[in-house]
Amino acid sequence: MYPAPIEDYIRPRTLAEAVSALARYAPGEAVFLAGGQSLMQAMKSRMVRPRCIVDLQTLTELKGIRISDGLAIGAMTRYVEIAESQAIGPAYAALQDAAQHVGDRQVRNRGTLGGSVCWNYLASCMPAVTLGLGGTMQLLAANGKTRAVSADDFLIAPLETARAEDELLTSITFPAAPANTGSAYKKWGLVTDALPVVGVCMQVTLNAAGACSAARIALSGLSAGAQRAPAGEALLVGSKVDESAMKRALEAIVGSVDAQSDKWADTAYRHQLIRTLGLDVANSAFARARGV
Ligand SMILES: Cc1cc2nc3c(=O)[nH]c(=O)nc-3n(C[C@H](O)[C@H](O)[C@H](O)COP(=O)(O)OP(=O)(O)OC[C@H]3O[C@@H](n4cnc5c(N)ncnc54)[C@H](O)[C@@H]3O)c2cc1C
Repeated sequence: MYPAPIEDYIRPRTLAEAVSALARYAPGEAVFLAGGQSLMQAMKSRMVRPRCIVDLQTLTELKGIRISDGLAIGAMTRYVEIAESQAIGPAYAALQDAAQHVGDRQVRNRGTLGGSVCWNYLASCMPAVTLGLGGTMQLLAANGKTRAVSADDFLIAPLETARAEDELLTSITFPAAPANTGSAYKKWGLVTDALPVVGVCMQVTLNAAGACSAARIALSGLSAGAQRAPAGEALLVGSKVDESAMKRALEAIVGSVDAQSDKWADTAYRHQLIRTLGLDVANSAFARARGV
């Protein structure tokens, strides 16, 4: 399949040019192009039929990983840069776990963090990881106004976000993590490094006594899309972090989520993935929190 005819292709030199180029068109008629790993397929199948493409790839302001008060990752930062970064510590290591296994080398060289969360496909890794790590979306509108939206509020449903039509995602920020915080992400797909049938992300913090003082857990691959798992979080917090506490938390998640049966896996198989991947992820996140 080939895309429907496209009238205009714009390579803005500034963020202001990018947002005003999009605003010249009616909603939905112009689209931002990031890595093209989802958008090009959607255009070829004509699910998306833009009149204009605004290509973000030369906007250096949208690229890079910065550590200041927390972590800030530009929307156009590619998976490969996240996977290879030396700057991302244990609290946010789940980003690297995910980026190292997104698709194949070509996808990792082109695809971006911002493109993944704006597309918000139900089985994508980065929406769930951003949610699990408490990320905040930094948005710029055509009128120059900026706003910050937490991942909890941004990721509404599969292929749906709180981004307004004229808004550009500029970066995703993550708060400075308390000491003894670790995170991890793991997925299982039908072939290696494919989109997940189920993926699990956890971020945990340990207190001075070695008990869990904070936990965020998010899942990918379920029909409702990227989602928190509050039933599991509540059981982990306050626990002594042994295997039985982890298993109780994972069982609570299995009992609280809606895991679909489809051609990739049935409900029981998805439940088992939450248990097995979840245990690996919990062990890895707590080990990182301990600095192991
Ligand atoms: C073979 C293959 C395997 C894959 N495997 C995986 C996998 O294992 N795990 C996984 O998570 N994903 C996987 N993907 C999807 C991949 O992660 C995509 O890169 C991602 O979904 C989209 O990012 P992108 O940068 O390519 O964005 P694009 O495709 O360019 O854009 C996606 C959407 O986001 C919008 N957008 C992009 N950037 C911005 C911005 N800054 N502000 C506002 N809107 C913006 C675009 O307009 C478009 O609507 C795979 C893709 C392929 C082709």
